[in-house]
Amino acid sequence: MTDIIQLLPDSVANQIAAGEVIQRPASVIKELTENAVDAGAGEIDVIVKDAGRTSIQVIDNGMGMSDTDARLCFERHATSKIKKSDDLFEIRTMGFRGEALASIAAIAQVILKSRKPDEEIGTEISISGSEIEYQSPVSCAAGTNILVRNLFFNVPARRKFLKSNQTELKHIINEFQHIALAHPEITFSLSNNDTVIFQLPEGNIKQRIMHLFGKQMQSNLTPLHSKTSLITITGFIGKPEHAKKTTGEQFFFINGRFMRHPYFHRAVMRSYEKLLPQDTYPSYFLYFDSDPGSIDVNIHPTKTEIKFENEQAIFQILQAAIREALGKSNLIPSIDFNNEGIIDIPVLKRDTRINVPQIEVDREYNPFRHDSTDETGLRLYKNKPLPDAWEALYNNSESEEIPAGIATIFPPEDGDETQSRSDYIQLKNRYILTTVKSGIMVIDQKLAYERIFYEQLIRSVAHNQGLSQMQLYPARMDLDTEHYLLIIEIKDDLALMGIDISDLGKNTVVVNSCPAGVECQDLKELIEALLEEYKNTEQKVGASATKTVAASLAKTVSTSFEKKLFAEEMQQLVDELFACENPNYTPAGKRILSILRTEELEKYLK
Ligand code: ADP
Ligand code: MG
Repeated sequence: MTDIIQLLPDSVANQIAAGEVIQRPASVIKELTENAVDAGAGEIDVIVKDAGRTSIQVIDNGMGMSDTDARLCFERHATSKIKKSDDLFEIRTMGFRGEALASIAAIAQVILKSRKPDEEIGTEISISGSEIEYQSPVSCAAGTNILVRNLFFNVPARRKFLKSNQTELKHIINEFQHIALAHPEITFSLSNNDTVIFQLPEGNIKQRIMHLFGKQMQSNLTPLHSKTSLITITGFIGKPEHAKKTTGEQFFFINGRFMRHPYFHRAVMRSYEKLLPQDTYPSYFLYFDSDPGSIDVNIHPTKTEIKFENEQAIFQILQAAIREALGKSNLIPSIDFNNEGIIDIPVLKRDTRINVPQIEVDREYNPFRHDSTDETGLRLYKNKPLPDAWEALYNNSESEEIPAGIATIFPPEDGDETQSRSDYIQLKNRYILTTVKSGIMVIDQKLAYERIFYEQLIRSVAHNQGLSQMQLYPARMDLDTEHYLLIIEIKDDLALMGIDISDLGKNTVVVNSCPAGVECQDLKELIEALLEEYKNTEQKVGASATKTVAASLAKTVSTSFEKKLFAEEMQQLVDELFACENPNYTPAGKRILSILRTEELEKYLK
């Protein structure tokens, strides 16, 4: 019998391993920059072209490599950071698997130049798809300079999988920020296509935060410090009134490295409980320091999720530390324990009778009813009391043989004498119920509005005219770089949708108007929510950026549409929905309406 098992060639094994470590250009930046930090660099420059698609270069002035090390570092499991398995539990450097460079070299073309400060001459090595092309002596600056070109050139499926440059750049900025925040003592820069995105001089943590996220952070940050035997937590937390609808300014670090920790995030959010408006997030920059032996960083290949030995205890410590910091800066009204015995709450005797407050309501009142002719163009609503409407629902019992399913849905019979306008019933400020021939149609009004508004936006872009309402008080926004770049990217589309934005440069914009017909209580909030939505909406394959912007805007605006509607408004909404090109689904593909068929109802009632 012939043997069939073979060992994979190194180049293939490396490519497979690369899939775990290197998902996108941002992963390369993370690995190379962490290596530069580990090499003790005082200055690190990251230079990318086309969001890393064309090239990524990381230059440091760290300890450099000898020519043997420069060759060895591309071998799998080549690392200078672990010598024995015990070391695994004592790690304070960033990388330790010795996988990153081997992975990168397996799926890109790499040129590395490196010189140790006390050597005169450096070494240059070129490697492409794991194959060494040449190595030669070179005269170069002390430290290491790695150039990575044509990422995924030999893994076309991966290369195709890359998102728009904007999205990839967003990921790069995130990774860069994580490392820059963890190391304010190092000078960093990041540029893309010759545009400098960040230039960060060395400084303290607060200065680093302000260089990354803007001067306005100065008034937002409250310091926090808590030292226990288990863990030391230091850093800054944001004031509740500065909380934003967008995420992106929440960071945890452990022993000098960024980590994600949903459980600790919850501890933070809980400490702010009741201090924040709904759906807003405070900024936080929290640095944990603990015995490396009490954490396990080995559970995730990209090492951002960390397991702690005493998570529950740390949860409590964190919560207490945040409350204390908030209290110290008078953000939480403090409890005065000296007022012993004084109670403000009225004490009721057992037999006290409490009267129900009397409210007079004119049940016939309907602000939408015009007794004169209908000058608004809205169809008149015959003000039938609700019970009739319910009857109407049940009376409409003629059953027709129409198969269920979205394809069979048609608008409620317009102008049909048997159908009264009051056939619309609203449920939970969210659902509109109405009768159709085959049963009861349920429409999600929020999703309906999202669809209607979306198509309206697409039309106004097509006709090159966004109807807008100028705001008396334009909103000035100081953004962080990520959101600033986003808004600049979609600014022209937004203008066509009625949102006029002036770019003042230096991460500042002014929002001058909002789309006609939209209630803009708070322009800033609207834009923040929009950016968050847009950021999280992956552009559909083949869809234009404009459509993605319109879909995000429609979704953002529709959140205010969970509200009481009068019959007249429900009528209008339903009419507008069925005038849409696709009344059945939202732009993101959520089902807007559904029919509860009479037969099903009958079955249900039996
Ligand atoms: P790891 O960082 O997990 O050790 P890498 O593949 O990222 O694995 O790097 C392999 C080795 O190459 C490192 O352990 C280090 O000795 C060396 N190295 C990588 N980058 C640099 C750098 N910028 N300066 C000096 N040495 C480096
Ligand atoms: Mg490394």
